[in-house]
Amino acid sequence: MAEILATPGPVPVPPQALEVLGEPVIHHRTPEFKKVFAEVLSDLQQVAQTASPVLVHSASGTGAMESVLVNLHSPGDKVLCLPAGKFGERWVELAEAYGLEPLVLSAPWGQSPAPEQVAQLLKKHPEIKSVLVQACETSTGQSHPIRDYAQITSPTDTLLLVDAISALGAYELPMDDWKIDALVGGSQKAFMAPAGLSFVALSERAWQAQKKATLPRYYFDLAEELSANSQGQTRFSSPVSLLKALHASLKVLLGKGLSQHWDLVRQRKNLAAEFLNVLGLEQLPENPAPSLTVVKLPEGIDGEKLQKAIQENHHVVFMGGQGELKGRVLRWSHIGHYSWKDQITIARSLALGLKEAGADLPPSWTGWLQSQSEQRT
Ligand SMILES: *Cc1c(COP(=O)(O)O)cnc(C)c1O
Repeated sequence: MAEILATPGPVPVPPQALEVLGEPVIHHRTPEFKKVFAEVLSDLQQVAQTASPVLVHSASGTGAMESVLVNLHSPGDKVLCLPAGKFGERWVELAEAYGLEPLVLSAPWGQSPAPEQVAQLLKKHPEIKSVLVQACETSTGQSHPIRDYAQITSPTDTLLLVDAISALGAYELPMDDWKIDALVGGSQKAFMAPAGLSFVALSERAWQAQKKATLPRYYFDLAEELSANSQGQTRFSSPVSLLKALHASLKVLLGKGLSQHWDLVRQRKNLAAEFLNVLGLEQLPENPAPSLTVVKLPEGIDGEKLQKAIQENHHVVFMGGQGELKGRVLRWSHIGHYSWKDQITIARSLALGLKEAGADLPPSWTGWLQSQSEQRT
């Protein structure tokens, strides 16, 4: 029986994208490819709601985080990292790896560092080059207050660099309107394509900073990539099959309109939130992002065993907790190519798995899910 990926990346890919993955490879310096690539770049600008060019890396999301970091900084630069989960910690690790000086303002997992504290730190240390944060912290499901952070950074010389790998494509994140200086996305998250591509857009002032920054870079030199893109090409061999798959996924994402797609993700999220209420369970984060639901497991339930059992017995693949949340949560994605039937199957598998693991659930959940299923399918 086919499994459903309920993991917040990789996610199920639409059949249109799977089909093109089986097509013969075309060369990347051909008119046929140029046409696909040009459409991909302009569709990506639509999703990122920006007039700035969006660049594509042949790398998973972390590669794009790294490219932003090395293109905008010089050795010894002070940066402010705002970790409140696994991916926030990655910014700190990257900054350290490249010899930057990270200041760290953390928050408990499931919460966000307070904008007022960010403002205070920037006042005290105006030399901070950039603030590094996630839009959706995928390890906890928290949506960080990007707009508030941007209101603090935009009147200063400090840049706001946002890892939106699980947010971009899932909900509104208007880069230009909010004055975000760098936005990072990833193909296997809300773009519903296989892993292996990531995206970067820089604001005008970030491009200015790019010219002055002196950290070494070669493969990830954004100015060189931009100049190749202006010829309709990527600088090095394009992963043509992945780009064609992304092209197909973007057509699905944008097909009914971007805001309709966001609505759909939001409705899936609402279904999950209501279902947890029916089950008497809670979400982990204070301010949950639409991209995924992070379910706090009842006391005495081992999350790792539960995840394995649900996969074996019900053919649904959840993702467990990372770091300090290991064994304590399950993560349920809303950002893939899902039918309502899929999301309801995922919901049912969660309840069945919990029941089989000995959790005490109110019996009303079966009827509730049945009525959802009748309404939506
Ligand atoms: C998935 C994810 C990453 C890591 O992306 P990779 O594609 O695994 O390199 C980084 N940040 C966030 C917020 C993510 O969700």
